[in-house]
Amino acid sequence: MLKAVIFDIDNTLYDYDAAHAPAFQALTAFACETFSLTPQRFAELHRSAERELEIRCGGNCAAVHNRLLRYQALLERLGQPIAYAPGMSKLYWSTLLEAMRPYPDAVETMARLKAMGLTIGIGTNMTAENQYEKLARIGAMPYVDFMVTSEEVTAEKPDRRLFDACAKKAGCAPEACAFVGDSVSKDVRGAMNAGMRAIWFCREGEPDRAIPGATTIRALSELPELLAECRNTFDTKEEPCP
Ligand SMILES: [Mg+2]
Repeated sequence: MLKAVIFDIDNTLYDYDAAHAPAFQALTAFACETFSLTPQRFAELHRSAERELEIRCGGNCAAVHNRLLRYQALLERLGQPIAYAPGMSKLYWSTLLEAMRPYPDAVETMARLKAMGLTIGIGTNMTAENQYEKLARIGAMPYVDFMVTSEEVTAEKPDRRLFDACAKKAGCAPEACAFVGDSVSKDVRGAMNAGMRAIWFCREGEPDRAIPGATTIRALSELPELLAECRNTFDTKEEPCP
């Protein structure tokens, strides 16, 4: 029987792309003004710093998302004082948090699933502090029973360690967990590989396609009905839900 529903955060509970755009714009404006750069040059430096950090930390860990480290690498490349890095990181995150809006049905869906007696979890590739801030910002925190970040398990989705940690915190077998996320390669494949029910949140504007073994939804509000229907078939060998 289904016991837990685990959500990805970025581009699943809110539109990350829409919130990232003004945050990156604010950062670009600051850097161009302070270091006399063109936006194009800043974008190049940003990409290089991102790659450098990825190589340095090995890729499969939350440090790749750490903007303090990323801007530190950028300033090192630029030959500017690293003392600017904390302010740049704060500028990015404060602008993103201000701009972020939850998908209209995200919090309500979590509340409905909770009312169905399901445990609600979060499984996310990111540093914990940022994700706590995001969940608080969109009003999801009261419904969250547990969270697993890639920082905590030192591995990123689709690495099985993150999914196993989710099942452990949910207190049930992976088969009793449904995982909901927007990324086919990270959320859907990772969940299926770990033995969880994978639900692909196919966002607006994205071409719909069938993923064998996974269920596709176009809106989070489809979840309560879908999971109510599936609930009794999860631990059986019956046909999966459509
Ligand atoms: Mg995502």
